[in-house]
Amino acid sequence: MKILKDFLNLLFPENCFACNHALTAGEKTICISCLFQLPYTNHIKEPENELKNKFLSKLNFKFAGSLLYYKKEGIAKQLIKNLKYNNEPEVGHFLGNLMAQELNSTEKKDWFDTIIPVPLHQKRKKTRGYNQAEEIAKPIAEKLNIELNLDSVIRKIHNQTQTKVKSRERWDNVKDIFLVTKPENIENKNILIIDDVITTGSTIESLATEILKHKPKSISLLAVANASENAI
Ligand SMILES: [Zn+2]
Repeated sequence: MKILKDFLNLLFPENCFACNHALTAGEKTICISCLFQLPYTNHIKEPENELKNKFLSKLNFKFAGSLLYYKKEGIAKQLIKNLKYNNEPEVGHFLGNLMAQELNSTEKKDWFDTIIPVPLHQKRKKTRGYNQAEEIAKPIAEKLNIELNLDSVIRKIHNQTQTKVKSRERWDNVKDIFLVTKPENIENKNILIIDDVITTGSTIESLATEILKHKPKSISLLAVANASENAI
């Protein structure tokens, strides 16, 4: 199998999903050079961070953090672009594995009962072929042995991208877009929400507000990256 794979690689070399250079044998998803340059935030180890502060006045997350910094032309942006727009769910698995590794090295690995990836509207999921947040969440659920909760919350409204909406209209644009359909899977649970990139935070605020109506024991948030609006 390995010989076949090496042979196929010669014919159709795979490229790094961050810098687009050809991958060499042994490299997967991204090249070694990009792997060493990943801009880690260290939020998982340092829970008082800018993402938690972003929500502080509105939501009391037990933990909120992102794995990477997001810059205008950075590695995180390239990876997210491939994950969301170029039909590459493998990038989600790669990022989810990194998040699982980080969580596993802290006491947080035991904090959560259930993982809820930010739901996509079914129309958007059908066009994209997958929900990128689910692809990120899969390896986290598997490695940490936490239930992956895919059908307890739905996104009932297909709204436009938040960054294109004026700030005063953002909350109106998202405030009732999610619906908990199985409250028994929320009540009294320690919930971890997984997202790709957080920009304005209003989508997460809307999702968390809907989840909180159904009395979870705690809610936490882990995203791949936290972006300022001018980095998108
Ligand atoms: Zn690279």
